[in-house]
Amino acid sequence: MKVCVLPGDGIGPEIVAQALRVLQALDLQLSFEQAPVGGAGYRALGHPLPEQTLELARASEAILFGAVGDFSLDSLPRELRPEQAILGLRKELNLFANFRPALVYPELVQASTLRPEVVSGLDILIIRELTGDIYFGQPRGIRTLDNGEREGFDTMRYSESEIRRVAHVGFQAAAKRGGRLCSVDKANVLDTMQLWREVVSSVGREYPSVQLSHMYVDNCAMQLLKNPKQFDVIVTGNMFGDILSDEASMLTGSIGMLPSASLNEHRFGLYEPIHGSAPDIAGQNVANPLATILSAAMMLRFSFDQAAAADRIEAAVRRVLAQGLRTADICEPGARQIGTREMGDAVLAAL
Ligand code: NAD
Repeated sequence: MKVCVLPGDGIGPEIVAQALRVLQALDLQLSFEQAPVGGAGYRALGHPLPEQTLELARASEAILFGAVGDFSLDSLPRELRPEQAILGLRKELNLFANFRPALVYPELVQASTLRPEVVSGLDILIIRELTGDIYFGQPRGIRTLDNGEREGFDTMRYSESEIRRVAHVGFQAAAKRGGRLCSVDKANVLDTMQLWREVVSSVGREYPSVQLSHMYVDNCAMQLLKNPKQFDVIVTGNMFGDILSDEASMLTGSIGMLPSASLNEHRFGLYEPIHGSAPDIAGQNVANPLATILSAAMMLRFSFDQAAAADRIEAAVRRVLAQGLRTADICEPGARQIGTREMGDAVLAAL
């Protein structure tokens, strides 16, 4: 089981180091190879996604990713900016299904800005299509009209096969969880989304055990704040998923706790925390490594069929939280504040 390790920029190397310690402690047949990506890729090899890094990713079975982003490189042309690395990996490896769980741990209920009774026990999964939609549709651009005014335009597009494959992912995930799938669209206004609803409904006939519902995206944005526990799995397109998954992650209030996975059809996956490179706290041993450690657990579950090992990591994280140990971002009065490395130590001890 070969893992390509891409720590990236800012806090990336610090948090990935802790996830690697946890993976190594499990005594699985994992091998790791590291490569530069993002700003680190640009500095080492002149490109945010150097050819060697991409080759290593292709030759591996999963990627453990830290974060990319380095404000000192923001003046580079767009194609050389660190963030291009993640877009390039999604595209080159066809990582079309993005899994974003939003889970509220009992010990962290107070971290949410919502009332405890609204979020306590929350456990939802958003599956966002990641390689299609208005983010990639052509034509797009800014043109000058006959009257001299400029006009910006983008194209929302989804083919039936793109909708079908992510719908299957959604139904399969729901079948393994609470058995409920909510497909989110805007079929009342957009033709593309009318096709989305038709195709998802037809795929649904292959999964009689899963209860399918449909919701318009504007309503979903409201329902996530009003009564988020009504959801089990949500499947949606790229742009709606981008917005809703960030909204859902904030229900938990703790950006340093949330893992994610981006998968292709062969269960190859890129696993990363949902947060960025946090340059404001990089190198200070204060970043929360738990989102990355939980991303490593997702990797074991999804790409390597090691559910028992994944369960062990997740149980260890719960135990550490129950012990009252917290990094600064989730620390409340009465808890004990510890650093990035010490959080890694605590998870290892709990394992
Ligand atoms: P960010 O997620 O890096 O940070 C937002 C805030 O959350 C900061 O105050 C930061 O200190 C805090 N934070 C983030 N992760 C944390 C952790 N693990 N522990 C404790 N606190 C944490 O978002 P930003 O500041 O908007 O962006 C910084 C850089 O990251 C930018 O260059 C951006 O483009 C990039 N970015 C990369 C990714 C990615 O690699 N997938 C995602 C988002 C942003």
